[in-house]
Amino acid sequence: MDPYLSIVIPIYNEEENIPVLWERLSGVMAEHFADPAKPWEIVFTDDGSRDRSLAMLMDIARAEPRVKVVEFNRNYGQHSAIFGAFAEVRGQVVVTLDADLQNPPEEIPKLVAKVEEGYDVVGGWRQGRQENDSFLRTMPSKIVNAITRRTTGVKLHDYGCMLRAYSRDVVDAMLLCKERSSFIPALANSFAKRITEVPVAHAERAAGESKYGLWKLINLQFDLLTSFSLLPLQMLSVFGVLTAAFGFLLFIGLVVYRFMHPEGTAQGVFTLFAILFFFVGCQFIAFGLLGEYIGRIYQEVRDRPRYMVKKVHQAK
Ligand code: UDP
Ligand code: MG
Repeated sequence: MDPYLSIVIPIYNEEENIPVLWERLSGVMAEHFADPAKPWEIVFTDDGSRDRSLAMLMDIARAEPRVKVVEFNRNYGQHSAIFGAFAEVRGQVVVTLDADLQNPPEEIPKLVAKVEEGYDVVGGWRQGRQENDSFLRTMPSKIVNAITRRTTGVKLHDYGCMLRAYSRDVVDAMLLCKERSSFIPALANSFAKRITEVPVAHAERAAGESKYGLWKLINLQFDLLTSFSLLPLQMLSVFGVLTAAFGFLLFIGLVVYRFMHPEGTAQGVFTLFAILFFFVGCQFIAFGLLGEYIGRIYQEVRDRPRYMVKKVHQAK
């Protein structure tokens, strides 16, 4: 029988956290998901850990047949690791969470209940966010959240929280996307009809260090910006139009000035500026136009499914 609930956990050098994680997680599973009609599975992805993480996961898997371990040959990053597990899961409800116990496993039943209510994507919204990580880690994620809200158009409070639940349909749709760089929460939202957030507790990282430095975050932000909107390219045209218009108006202004003050001194430099602005503007409009084509090519090669049929209804 296929599992009903699948838990996905990416692991990268988490040897200090795995024992406690497993203890708490298996406790939650035993307590809340004991119904034999709704079997569960847990899929860990070992994202190229260099410590004892893999060996520890294998030990767990040997003792518990409902645990699967996907081993990557090297480190590909958290989102790839989650995708690697998505390809393996078979549950109707899929929950992702971090291994560092920042996302308490005890919150899983809440998320699952929301999916059962009919939501396709349920995001965790971290309450009382406390980070042992520095200002350098919290500040960027605030910016990430703000920009994501703009670029994806979905108003969630917390895009960074990876304690999330998805319906089977959304996971299937994501698996059909062939793009390399993807930000799972935003991608999931683009395939969901009903999206909601539930407040979840948020703890400090139990042990080890955050695997995200400033650089990885900036990278993630670029992934997000470029894979969900053509806005940066379109801004080129907007900038071009504004500059050209400014040049043109300056030119008109100069002509008018000339007629009103025929005896005035020559405005040669200003005229040159007007012409310069106009042509620079035209260039940017041309860039924007090129960008528009490139953007479309990019959208084509990504090969995301255009739509997903949930069901075809017809009277028997
Ligand atoms: N992770 C991963 N591959 C990576 C980086 C992180 O699988 O290259 C995992 C990591 O083991 C953890 C989760 O992704 O389970 C979140 O990582 P981390 O806690 O470092 O991120 P933060 O909480 O600082 O955003
Ligand atoms: Mg963390």
